[in-house]
Amino acid sequence: MPGFQPKFIAIGGGRIMAFPERFLDELTERNDIVDVVSQYVRLTKKSGANLFGLCPFHSEKTPSFSVAPDKQIYHCFGCGKGGSVISFIMEIENLSFPEAVAFLANRAGMQLPEQSDDPGAKKRQRLLALNRDAARFFHAQLKTPAGQIARDYLARRQLTAQTVTRFGLGFAPDSWESLANAMRRKGYSDQEMFEAGLVKHGKSGGVYDAFRNRLMFPVIDVRGSVIGFSGRI
Ligand code: ZN
Repeated sequence: MPGFQPKFIAIGGGRIMAFPERFLDELTERNDIVDVVSQYVRLTKKSGANLFGLCPFHSEKTPSFSVAPDKQIYHCFGCGKGGSVISFIMEIENLSFPEAVAFLANRAGMQLPEQSDDPGAKKRQRLLALNRDAARFFHAQLKTPAGQIARDYLARRQLTAQTVTRFGLGFAPDSWESLANAMRRKGYSDQEMFEAGLVKHGKSGGVYDAFRNRLMFPVIDVRGSVIGFSGRI
């Protein structure tokens, strides 16, 4: 959507260390390799139990890229690439191991385990959760009487309800504290909201909503996390 500048809120891509083996087992169980690969490669059954398709990692005209559902692995007889569903996502999405794990966890609706050896990770998770809750709040506002003005705007721009839902569009009401109050009720501190860029500090020391009377566009990263918002008056 042209015409506005996204406002990114950086949430560091800090290192996430070892994942518990049990977690990784569940992750691979809940991300069937055929389903995942099929989102990138058209697979057809060729021989036996294996599926074949054109390799996404090298250029070819006859399929030499195979997926073995029973072993949950892939292997290309052309370029030799192969591995698990996690290495497939690392390779095709150009992600590090922890990023690929986060990508697949998000895909399967799984919560990442707490990373006790990374003190920054818990804070980042809180901020991501806050952004997600804020996105839900803004989206819900679209359905309120106050959101009529935004609904009218979307209708004029001929944005369908499907688009609005798909991109998680929302509306920040014309109020100084409606988001802040809603997020406080969910247990977030003013400091966390400030760090997420959702509130600003007033002269008298309190905080007020940074986005008011705006259409809200969540900024979503490759892992499906809301990492910030851009607002449009
Ligand atoms: Zn290949």
